Amino acid sequence: MLVVMNILNNKTDNTLNMQTIKGYDKKIMLRCIELSQIAVNKGDAAFGSLVSLDGKLIAEGINNKNGKVSDHAEILALHNAHLKLGTTDLSECTLYTSCEPCPMCSFMIREYKIKRVVYALPSLYVGGHSKWPILQDEELEHMTPIFSNVPEILGGYMEEEANEVMKQTPLWMFGSDAKLNK
Ligand SMILES: [Zn+2]
Repeated sequence: MLVVMNILNNKTDNTLNMQTIKGYDKKIMLRCIELSQIAVNKGDAAFGSLVSLDGKLIAEGINNKNGKVSDHAEILALHNAHLKLGTTDLSECTLYTSCEPCPMCSFMIREYKIKRVVYALPSLYVGGHSKWPILQDEELEHMTPIFSNVPEILGGYMEEEANEVMKQTPLWMFGSDAKLNK
């Protein structure tokens, strides 16, 4: 079942705000989930991300635990988008990711001025949206030109599909029902 994280009161409900879903979201998120499967096949954690501009693929990232500790899928996708577009201003771009970004990645998302964030699995224990509200911190907006506005956030989108990949790993802490499972 699709679940949306309610930004204001930090609880989940079973409704999905259709207005926030764009026609190309499904295709792009499917690619993110495919990237997470590639990561698992390589023996890594199930995380895949990509940066898109108006539905067009700009750059991808796959978790790389054998590299640096900070080689999270989102960070690699953002760095690759920076290299490809030649700018740190990604304010027209959307960041898609198979799992809710952690605080480290959320901070980078804000610094790269990403306009919209779409993620599948919630991360209730270590999320930069549901646990530590970095993605939606309005005070960062005042620190111009380093940061820009709070991005539009669509969470829980295609969660079930992402969870099919996550279930192949011992990472039980991801998903909207993670706290109920343990
Ligand atoms: Zn991260």
